[in-house]
Amino acid sequence: MFGWLFKKKTPPPLPKSDPLQPYRGSDIKEKLAHDDQRMLAAGIKYAIWLSSGAPCADDEMTALHQKLDGKRYSIAKGMRVGKRYIRPGIEDGCRCYHKAVIPGFKE
Ligand SMILES: [Zn+2]
Repeated sequence: MFGWLFKKKTPPPLPKSDPLQPYRGSDIKEKLAHDDQRMLAAGIKYAIWLSSGAPCADDEMTALHQKLDGKRYSIAKGMRVGKRYIRPGIEDGCRCYHKAVIPGFKE
């Protein structure tokens, strides 16, 4: 009856260097915006910035984004940097990703 549940193949693990590699291309920003909407709909308000370890667009962006690695930000607003709010993976050339902070769940 529930056989279909177990027949589903688990997709291969994403390479650590660029978790968004399968999405690289025109639809990546929509994918990330969709992720944000899904997290907010699930009651998840914060996420952790994850630097992929691979360089982003340029040295300046890479240095900044590596500094943000592991920092928490509001999904609704983005990560505050000076007067701007930025999101991982959105700026051109950025390879960063995010991890949802699930309330009450500690790693
Ligand atoms: Zn980045």
